[in-house]
Formats: sequence, structure tokens, C-alpha cells
Amino acid sequence: MQRDFPQAINPRVGLNRVGQGRHFLQIPGPSNVPDRVLRSIDFPTIDHRGPEFQQLGLKILEAIRPVFGTRNPVVIYPSSGTGAWEAALVNVLNPGDHVLMYEAGHFAALWKRLADRMGLKPEVMEGDWRQGVDANQIEDRLRQDTSHSIKAVCVVHNETSTGLTADIPAVRAALDNAKHPALLLVDTISSLGSVDFQHDEWGVDVTVSGSQKGLMLPPGIAFNAVSDKAIAASRSSVMSKSYWAWDEILVANEKGFWPSTPSTNLLYGLAEALDMLYEEGLDNVFRRHIRHAKATRAAVEAWGLEVLCQNPKGYSPVLTAVVMPQKPDGSHFDADALRRTALERFNMSLGTGLSKLAGWVFRIGHLGDFNDLSLLGTLAGVEMALQVNGVPIKQGGVQAAMNVLVNPTE
Ligand SMILES: *Cc1c(COP(=O)(O)O)cnc(C)c1O
Repeated sequence: MQRDFPQAINPRVGLNRVGQGRHFLQIPGPSNVPDRVLRSIDFPTIDHRGPEFQQLGLKILEAIRPVFGTRNPVVIYPSSGTGAWEAALVNVLNPGDHVLMYEAGHFAALWKRLADRMGLKPEVMEGDWRQGVDANQIEDRLRQDTSHSIKAVCVVHNETSTGLTADIPAVRAALDNAKHPALLLVDTISSLGSVDFQHDEWGVDVTVSGSQKGLMLPPGIAFNAVSDKAIAASRSSVMSKSYWAWDEILVANEKGFWPSTPSTNLLYGLAEALDMLYEEGLDNVFRRHIRHAKATRAAVEAWGLEVLCQNPKGYSPVLTAVVMPQKPDGSHFDADALRRTALERFNMSLGTGLSKLAGWVFRIGHLGDFNDLSLLGTLAGVEMALQVNGVPIKQGGVQAAMNVLVNPTE
């Protein structure tokens, strides 16, 4: 076996290529990581059982709570968001439990698949991918479940595949109106830190999240915010778990530590990202996202194209999914060819259409570390790529977005 590798292994992707400037990472997560966060990750790794780490751990475990809108503990895992999905299920449920999973997009479908594989009995409630979560549908189903066989309701707050945000207080009201005791589990992987979320006030039992979208970190840490009811459920849950089990983590966290090695350097980054969010003010952060989403939709409309979301109450502040126009033969102009042009000509990554949206939808991420000019650069790149690819659009999308951005009331 050859032991010496002939070339350098690190391709150093992500470094600026000469003449290309900075890459525009306009997928709806991972999002662009701010320089301040990158700088704070670039410190020596310290002893995760030592006193310096303990101070960091205690501060982070406290400071993360307001982002979730909770006074309760938030469990932090070295993991992708998918791990936190699994953690939420295995901590509060029991083998074979019946769970109601609302499916209005690709990520909800993936969470359901995970539940299947964990030995749960998910019941899929199919929603319209262009309308989003219908809380009335959930209420009707829960009212029928008079024996309370449904143990949890799972909903995605911001469906990253479609660009629709669900009304979580309405889902909570559905459970309350039906007087149903099921737990409410919510995925905020692409909304947390970009869209208002209130774990306590909205009566959510487990809030699942990840680091690489609104929290502006690289991928690699994930979260479960927990209610008292979820903690109580976890005490009687007998699903197999060890790494994901909350009990030992919560005990170690009381002193600022973790049972196994935490992602020390990503936690440095999290501390900085939290400082940035609180410096700007969470409400300002949320307003900024809403404003950029509105400007993006103005551009799409000016191009004469259609936004995938057909429910104005559900417009996502985080991303906009755009429908490619149809050709005379009824087929759509190729969304992935457009994305290739954006990458090759303009050094910008756009989000692909996922599952049934593949090929005819693309997604513009406008979240995280982002400002008016980064939005205009993004939209200029999309407008030029549409033109290069011969997609029939009206020019002036960027101008329409500018008109929104200069309006002081936006
Ligand atoms: C990105 C995303 C996920 C998956 O997270 P990973 O970190 O890729 O595991 C799940 N749900 C939603 C809504 C997402 O946006």
C-alpha cells in the first residue's frame, strides 16, 4: 500500500480564486459564515474538561436560550440537523408510537423516513407544497383521535425545499382546541436565528435546530430545546438511545460540560454568532430577513416569474423558491442549467429543486450574514444567468428589489 500521497490533499476550496472575488453561497443553508465567526473558530482547541471551557460552556448554554425563546435547557450535540431530528424522537417516544407528521415539503418527508427507520409509526398528513401547513387539517385529525393514540405531532417551521414558513401558534391552537395531549415537535433547522420563534410561548415540546443556516456557523452542531413536558416524557421513554439521550447531557451541562467531547471550536463560533445576533437585536435580524424576502419577491415578479409559495401568509423570510417558466411544449426551462450558469459565470451557488421540484424550481437563499448589497449582487447574478440561458424574462428585477430596499418603511 502506498503510504505517501503524491499531491496535497486539501484542495482549499472556499478560498477565493484569483479574479473571482468572494463566492456567493446563496443556497438556503449552509449560509455564508461571517468573518467574525470564522476568526473566532480559529483558536487553539482547549481542554473540554478544564476551567476555561467550563466558562464558555456555561455562557453558551445560557445565551442560546433566548434565540429559541425558552427559559428551559437547550441540548447541543456535535451533529448535523438530522441527528437532532433523531434525538427529538428517541428521547420522548416509545417503540411503535403513532406520530402525526405533516408533510408539505422534502424535509418533512425526510423526517418521516427517519421516524420509520427508528421503528415509529408515522402517519403522514399530506399538505399542499405550495400552500404549506394547514393547522385546521391537523385539528380535524386530532379530534378524531379520541383514544389519543397519536403521541406526537411533527411540523417543519420553515420548509427549506419550498420556501414556506408554518404558523406554529396555529398548530399549537389545533392541539389545544382538540384537547389533545400529543407532544409538539418542531424543526427550526432553517429558521432559527432568522425568523421569530418562541419555544415557550408557543407551547412547543421539542424544537430541533442546526448550526449552518440562520445561526451563521459551519455545519456541525445541532440542538434540541426541551419543554418540561418533553423532559417528563423522556423519563419514561424506552426507545434505544445512548449518544442522543438527554439525561446525562443535561446533568453535565449544569456545570458547563458535556459527557463526551463537544465541538469546542464550533462553540467558539457559536459564542461569536450569538454576540452578533444580540448586537444587531433579534427583532432587527427578523425584520431584515422579512425585508430581503420581500425585495426578492419583487424581483421575481418583475422578471415575470412565479414564486413557488402561493400562500402570502407563508412567504419564507429565509429563502425564495422560484418556478422556471414553461416552454411552448409545456416543459419548464431547466433550473439546474440556470444554477450551472450562475456558478460557472458568476461564482454563485443557488439551491436546487428537491424531490418533486427537481429541474423546474431553484431556490435563492437570503439568510444569515447578509445585507442589501449582498442581496442585490445575488439578484443580479440570477437575472444575468436567466438572460445567459435564454430564459424569457423581463429585465428590471434588480431595480424592483432596489425600489423595495430604498423605501424607509420596509
Ligand atoms: C437543512 C435542513 C435539514 C437537514 O439538516 P442537516 O444538517 O442537513 O442534517 C432538516 N430540516 C430542514 C428544514 C432543513 O432546512
